[in-house]
Amino acid sequence: MSGTVGSKATHDCQAAVVGAGPAGLASALSLAHVGADVALIGPPPPQANATSAETRTAALLVGSVELLKTLKIFDHLAQEAAPLEAIRIVDASRSLIRAPDIEFRASELGLPSFGYNIANTALVEALYARAREVIGTIIPSTVERVAIENESVGLDCADGCRVTTRLVVAADGRRSLCRAASGIDVSEWRYEQGAIASSFHHGRPHAGVAIELHSEGASLTTVPLPDRCASALIMVASTSDIASLMEGDDEHFADAIAGRLDGLLGQIESVGPRSSFPVAGLTAKTLAARRVALVGEAGHILPPIGAQGLNLGLRDAAALADCVADALRRGEDPGGEEVLQRYMNARRLDVLSRAVGVDLLNRSLLTSFVPLQAARGIVVHGLNMLPALRRLVMRVGLEPPSSLPRLMRGAEA
Ligand SMILES: Cc1cc2nc3c(=O)[nH]c(=O)nc-3n(C[C@H](O)[C@H](O)[C@H](O)COP(=O)(O)OP(=O)(O)OC[C@H]3O[C@@H](n4cnc5c(N)ncnc54)[C@H](O)[C@@H]3O)c2cc1C
Repeated sequence: MSGTVGSKATHDCQAAVVGAGPAGLASALSLAHVGADVALIGPPPPQANATSAETRTAALLVGSVELLKTLKIFDHLAQEAAPLEAIRIVDASRSLIRAPDIEFRASELGLPSFGYNIANTALVEALYARAREVIGTIIPSTVERVAIENESVGLDCADGCRVTTRLVVAADGRRSLCRAASGIDVSEWRYEQGAIASSFHHGRPHAGVAIELHSEGASLTTVPLPDRCASALIMVASTSDIASLMEGDDEHFADAIAGRLDGLLGQIESVGPRSSFPVAGLTAKTLAARRVALVGEAGHILPPIGAQGLNLGLRDAAALADCVADALRRGEDPGGEEVLQRYMNARRLDVLSRAVGVDLLNRSLLTSFVPLQAARGIVVHGLNMLPALRRLVMRVGLEPPSSLPRLMRGAEA
């Protein structure tokens, strides 16, 4: 069933998701899964063969993968998903006190993998295809005006459609119009860094191991792709280094990767297309207000270290679906204050702890302050020596501090 409505249509629904990026699509599908009458509004995601190809992949952790299974998407992606069996962290800095290498293995937690790495294009295509099957109203347009009333919200779209809803799910990204309309303020900060997302083929198989190499003000992360001799790449460095790597040719880029990896994955055989991103941080002062709940980058942006961004966005989507499911069961207004408050309670600590943790890690790499370098070294030594501490750190990396949303536990909501 294709649910696209014609232009100039009006539609009433319990929840309207604004933004068809990965967080918005997952949110719309999660809400539909728990029985909400939901509309999805947003330009369709670009196709994999579009000229401005998305070069990012998402390392999705076990909870996120469980959500994709619940929403009946993972089976369609299994061919394109590479399991993450281990994460190796290498201190490649020239600091006086270098931390030893550390490798976390999923098997230490009794898991076959920490999750799967999936190309963003494949992920959003699969989510969108599923949305077209199960969501009654899809409006492939942008919201231009948000009018918040006591009992409902009116959304006017560029194509002339109008949607009236009890709950707006703002998944409209970092410059969220819905967030602004609800009056939610943000804290925003920039690092003097940029990031490149790309991929490369290498001589030695990755063996399911992601590698994070940290050096002064920079990091390079390789994440396995389904081809055992290919990995996705995220390089974070100063804005000037990133600009020159974007301007240079493939050979220059391959040399830069080889120089940093120092043979860890064998010879660099070819590099894929690359795109660059600013490295920035943003947290919304609150995750919901006035019938609007923030999901994904509308609510939080983290530097691309430690694969937390979209995992957080998917946990938002699943937690909000839990809250709406409970509200519908009790006959409550799904956009009412109690529901928004429960959503904020469910998400606050997870978002805050990831934002602070990733920011601290990034800043510890930007500093030449010896005591901080020493502290980092001591922590890593401790992790290497104490298996129980390693397991604790792995669990903290995988799961939110509060309980996992129901849609991520495989249980019916
Ligand atoms: C280099 C890099 C690597 C990353 N790697 C990982 C990783 O390994 N794991 C991980 O978990 N995260 C990762 N992330 C983070 C992840 O990519 C983002 O969290 C995620 O893509 C954000 O998705 P989103 O749906 O919130 O936002 P977006 O993808 O920005 O989607 C927002 C959508 O809203 C739409 N929109 C905007 N305004 C309107 C409007 N007015 N009306 C209707 N629609 C509107 C836009 O068209 C867009 O489709 C990485 C990020 C970077 C930069």
